[in-house]
Amino acid sequence: MNGASERDEHFLRLSFAVARRSLTHGNHPFGCILVDADGRVLIETENGYMPDHDGTAHAERLAATQACRTLSRDVLAASTLYSSAEPCAMCAGAIYWAGIGRVVYGLSEHRLRGVTGNHPENPTLDLPCRDVFASGQRPTEVLGPLLEEEAEALHEGVWT
Ligand SMILES: [Zn+2]
Repeated sequence: MNGASERDEHFLRLSFAVARRSLTHGNHPFGCILVDADGRVLIETENGYMPDHDGTAHAERLAATQACRTLSRDVLAASTLYSSAEPCAMCAGAIYWAGIGRVVYGLSEHRLRGVTGNHPENPTLDLPCRDVFASGQRPTEVLGPLLEEEAEALHEGVWT
């Protein structure tokens, strides 16, 4: 299951919907879902910055933690995490430690940095997630950026 497919675009758009919902809940427009090998959505998480101003409550980090606590190693390895934006270094680390086998993302961190600038609530950490995964000892497949225009549109007017 390499490369972009209709299935990947379908699930990535679901993560965009989660990001939109996150914004309506007063949080940053990021979202992700974890999908198993059979196409079942196991976990979905919105950004969790509010109400505690938790800068570590990125959607992917929350999903990775929940995944570790609830899923077996085999299921994790065969699952794909779809994220509206590229996992930052922290989230890529959490995904690695959770043992999630594959990541598909919309907006690149580099382009997100152009959108957020150094906004105090999101001074984007612009490091390719591939660099983090490449430093690990088990493989994590990465696909992205994908549907990047749609992914960027989630941030329109948010970081001004
Ligand atoms: Zn992150």
